[in-house]
Amino acid sequence: MTLKELEIGKSAVITAVGGEGALRQHFLDMGMIPGTEVTVVKYAPLGDPMELQLHGYELTLRLADAEQILVEPQPEKKQEERAPQKAPKAEHPGLGEGGRFHPKGSGEPLPDGTLLTFALVGNQNSGKTTLFNQLTGSNQHVGNFPGVTVSRKDGAIRGYPDTRITDLPGIYSMSPYSSEELVSRSFVLDEKPKAIINIVDATNIERNLYLTMQLLEMDIPMVVALNMMDEVSANGGSVDVNRMESLLGVPVVPISAAKNAGVAELVEHAVHIATYQEKPLRQDFCDETDHDGAVHRCLHGIIHLIQDHADRNGLPVRFAASKVVEGDEHVLKQLGLDRNESEMLEHIILQMEAERGLDRSAAIADMRFAFIRKVCAQTVGKPRESRERVRSEKMDRILTGKYTAIPLFVLIMGLVFFLTFNVIGAWLQDLLAAGIGALTDVTDKALTGAGINPVVHDLIVKGIFEGVGSVVSFLPIIVTLFFFLSLLEDSGYIARVAFFMDKLLRRIGLSGRSIVPLLIGFGCTVPAVMSTRTLPSERDRKMTILLTPFMSCTAKLPIYGFFVNAFFPQYSGFIMVGLYLLGILLGILAAFVFRRTLFRGEAAPFVMELPNYRMPGARNVLQLLWEKAKDFLQRAFSIILVATVAVWFLQSFDLHLNLVADQADSILAGLAGLITPVLIPLGLGDWRITTSLITGFLAKESVVSTMKILFGSGIASVLTPAAAASLLVFSLLYTPCVAAIASVRRELGRRYAVGVVLWQCCIAWLAALAVRGIFLLTGGL
Ligand code: GDP
Ligand code: MG
Repeated sequence: MTLKELEIGKSAVITAVGGEGALRQHFLDMGMIPGTEVTVVKYAPLGDPMELQLHGYELTLRLADAEQILVEPQPEKKQEERAPQKAPKAEHPGLGEGGRFHPKGSGEPLPDGTLLTFALVGNQNSGKTTLFNQLTGSNQHVGNFPGVTVSRKDGAIRGYPDTRITDLPGIYSMSPYSSEELVSRSFVLDEKPKAIINIVDATNIERNLYLTMQLLEMDIPMVVALNMMDEVSANGGSVDVNRMESLLGVPVVPISAAKNAGVAELVEHAVHIATYQEKPLRQDFCDETDHDGAVHRCLHGIIHLIQDHADRNGLPVRFAASKVVEGDEHVLKQLGLDRNESEMLEHIILQMEAERGLDRSAAIADMRFAFIRKVCAQTVGKPRESRERVRSEKMDRILTGKYTAIPLFVLIMGLVFFLTFNVIGAWLQDLLAAGIGALTDVTDKALTGAGINPVVHDLIVKGIFEGVGSVVSFLPIIVTLFFFLSLLEDSGYIARVAFFMDKLLRRIGLSGRSIVPLLIGFGCTVPAVMSTRTLPSERDRKMTILLTPFMSCTAKLPIYGFFVNAFFPQYSGFIMVGLYLLGILLGILAAFVFRRTLFRGEAAPFVMELPNYRMPGARNVLQLLWEKAKDFLQRAFSIILVATVAVWFLQSFDLHLNLVADQADSILAGLAGLITPVLIPLGLGDWRITTSLITGFLAKESVVSTMKILFGSGIASVLTPAAAASLLVFSLLYTPCVAAIASVRRELGRRYAVGVVLWQCCIAWLAALAVRGIFLLTGGL
């Protein structure tokens, strides 16, 4: 039978894995290999995808993909088999002893002053960034979602200026599956770090060691950081670290990155192995006795065959051998085998497949997992079912329950927006606005009292205080929204959202993973665009990037707030929500258009790990908020301040630098007048509005500061409600700001960046025209 037919709660053993290419390799690398036991945990509320448990962790899989996996049902397990084994006593090696495994000072150290480069490599969500922050004292963002780190970050280890450690995106194996995984693989392979710090999630040790095995083959000095040991010991589990070290042939240091335990010791080991270039003692993991050593003989035959080519091209030979068995194009090309050798290679592999009774990729994956099972049997005292797991299951029963998941999601998002806009954020905003107002008054009086030149007085009070002040007062709302979004992400909830939204997103041609960039888009388009790098398919990635501008970012809030207060105060909540929904709706429509035109084809498969729920770290969240607030204030006092002053200048003077009596004679009016005719059909044929929208291209918040300068508080007398509505819609949809366009360009190139600007402006124009039309026809609200 196929995995798809397996009932909820039932277990089965995989007998064959269908499919082909990178996807199949990915299945194998995630541990879905013949002989593995899987349990169906549940189906997503909409019936697809399913959640599986294997090798002690949770994985999502679409039914269409599950259909390709053949399984043999297992009889129910007896209770005692599940009971925890007695844990072997685990000593913490070298705690205060300076390391037991490695005789320190062996071999020739690298000369003093050599830059020691480290690669921090590990599975997604294994705590790399947490460790990186501990090691370097920096503040990178940590998240409980597979794939938060999307580009590499460098830093020196505290106390060791001659080191450079690089935090890489999480990978499950050295066969890259998404573009970010490629970053990690090329870093290790091409940039040849002096040493690798392999971070292993000890609560999920079998799957994590799979990568470790491949890293050992790289023949680079390595130390294994066994992370999350706090959780393991709290649940009664243990790891015999000394035994594991001797089985793997590298130092293993138990740590808890989050609690900063064992980290100092890890550093000592890492610096040591790097300085003395101590390579892993063991690379040969294939078992001579396993199925008569079919895989063992195959690998060793190939090693002899390609040794010279590998040496010549600087490839670690053991790594190259297992990769060519898996059919890795990249490595094959690098080796440059001649025809005879290629044929010989193929024959060796065919022979192995025949003897082993498994295809090549599965045979290699199985060899690795067989070794891992052996290591774990000897060293790991399985914890009782962890408290975190039990808690996660309980929470999931509701949060991803069949009938509760989607209503709760709507409720949670609703609550987030309600608290942000109506309660916490709004309250803080009023407070801040009052403060700024008071400060403005005081300054105004002081300047008047001191008899300052009226032009300068005008610049300071009208230009800087009112303009920048009106933007700064939105800081609390923005920070509050980011606070909630980061809580959701950090707790692990967003990964669930991806799980149960997959089916819906597939309707518009995307996979559940795209929900993350889209949700982040409500905060800011820039990180949203960046986070698309975690998507495994180019097609999904491009399409998601083109959809993020439809998610209304926080910088547009000041615009909404300003106009809603001026024109429709009685409907404020309704209009705010309406704008967000309109953006989403048009995004969905755009997705349908994309799917028929630019991006035909199917969304990428949805294979994702579901991490346990975790309590978001306070330090972590506060750090993020601080960063966001800093970022926002920096923008307010740089871009927005400059734009404000420039606008004030251009509107106060004419071309001969004389102070103008009527602003309509100013330089600004002249310039903006060139574009204004385009906006006449929208009811926005006023040069001051054109100007505001142009400054909005620099930063959306500037729209309001510019209007404050140009209109003072008299905006309501200039625009009709119909024009105000069309302006709201226009600002919702028109081109994203420069920063966002720059990140689109970085991801997709110039053509797409220019395309986004033009396309969003056109859509905005049409939508605004439609809204104005409706308004005029129905006679307003
Ligand atoms: P990355 O994806 O590998 O960079 O992982 P992160 O550093 O973003 O961490 C993933 C999650 O694991 C976060 O929720 C961390 O708070 C949590 N975490 C990291 N290290 C530890 C640890 O030692 N113990 C526990 N209990 N949680 C940890
Ligand atoms: Mg990370």
